[in-house]
Amino acid sequence: MRQIAIYGKGGIGKSTISSNLSAALHEMGHTVMQVGCDPKRDSTRILAEGKFIPAVLEEHREQLRIGKDEYAINLKNIVFKSPGGIYLVEAGGPEPGIGCAGRGVLTALQILKDLKAFSTYNIDVAIYDVLGDVVCGGFSMPIREGFAEEIYLICSGGFMSIYAANNIARAVQRLAKRGDAGLAGIICNSNGDEAFEHAFIPAFAKRLGTPFVQFVPRSPVIQACELGGRPVVEYAPDSQEAEIFRNLAKAIIENDSRVIPTPINDLAELETMYRQCLVKDKK
Ligand code: ATP
Ligand code: MG
Repeated sequence: MRQIAIYGKGGIGKSTISSNLSAALHEMGHTVMQVGCDPKRDSTRILAEGKFIPAVLEEHREQLRIGKDEYAINLKNIVFKSPGGIYLVEAGGPEPGIGCAGRGVLTALQILKDLKAFSTYNIDVAIYDVLGDVVCGGFSMPIREGFAEEIYLICSGGFMSIYAANNIARAVQRLAKRGDAGLAGIICNSNGDEAFEHAFIPAFAKRLGTPFVQFVPRSPVIQACELGGRPVVEYAPDSQEAEIFRNLAKAIIENDSRVIPTPINDLAELETMYRQCLVKDKK
């Protein structure tokens, strides 16, 4: 089974890319499970007609409340199928204000493993849409525990998204040494400044030692599909955007690169690289 994790700054488009990628992989013939690893549990909404599905940790709490354990959980109560045929899971989170989101995500992933969710549904690609914040342990849990093997970073041309991607790469550099996980590539989810992004992001990927995999434009079609509660390949199958997600799916399936990245440790170097490209682009 391929285990692909999507990381990036909060709000950069992780859930949008994950969902549209899952749908494109499904269209290619893969049996896909998307696992939302964010207590907001909104990862799978685009695939589920805009609805929130029940979360693993909620069901686990319910079993504990009646004196049972995770083995009493019926997979049907935590694994759902989208109208398009993609398996959906939301890890969920601890009770608001209590407990650690990272530990919660780990518990949910462990429950999926213990209940043999992946083999029961013959999943051949798992997509983990992961909580973006490096300062929270939730970020590293899927890598540490061997769930996330191929790590993709999402960024746009916005400096803070690049700063976050570089920080995530630094964490991957530390964690990847211990296991099979590695950085597999960078995806640009555009903020609209396309000329700069085309100039900077491939160079940034090269600096990190990882492939630049796909450019995804800022697009009203992507937003319309989100509002329609369906992924682009289902809702607008003949659009350019659908072709872009098909290309992304193909590129990811064909990509066997998993590197220990070479992130930029000196913030001044990152700023200089960014500024020089910005100046060139605006000339
Ligand atoms: P969070 O960190 O909160 O989980 P996220 O990284 O998952 O956020 P999304 O929820 O996927 O981000 O995206 C945030 C918003 O940006 C969404 O409302 C989505 O419609 C919009 N968006 C993302 N990518 C694109 C795009 N390529 N074109 C147009 N809108 C987009
Ligand atoms: Mg999200």
